Amino acid sequence: MPDPTPDPDLDGTFEAEAHVTLFGFDPTSARVHLLPRSRAWRLRGSVPIVLVTLVLVPMVGVIPPHAPWVLAVLGGGFFLARRRWKWHFTLTGLEGTCPRCGAELHVRPGRLRNPHTLTCDACRNDTVLEVPPEVLEAHASETA
Ligand SMILES: [Zn+2]
Repeated sequence: MPDPTPDPDLDGTFEAEAHVTLFGFDPTSARVHLLPRSRAWRLRGSVPIVLVTLVLVPMVGVIPPHAPWVLAVLGGGFFLARRRWKWHFTLTGLEGTCPRCGAELHVRPGRLRNPHTLTCDACRNDTVLEVPPEVLEAHASETA
């Protein structure tokens, strides 16, 4: 299963400039703290998911009506394993403000999607955090 909690060891975290956008408002700049995830870290997460899936498939396959359970376990396992395999960066922190109301934005540490949706605590709008792809590429190559 993917580990939703951040590693206690955050060595390798770097900071980068990003921006926060909200349709109809001027974008604001933000500073993100990112931890690149190595191929080994992603494998350590996704391989156990695949193994658990392969163990569960024959177990749930004996329960009538068979096929829906097998497909559900295969689909869920594939989804979780792929999600972990695509987890290239953990977003560990953010300093930025909402383009609409100017309130400080907060993030829970987790997988960075790019673009990454953040809900403003003050005005409840869904803002979009975007990290320049060239920044991610530069840091991803160090850990590939
Ligand atoms: Zn806001």
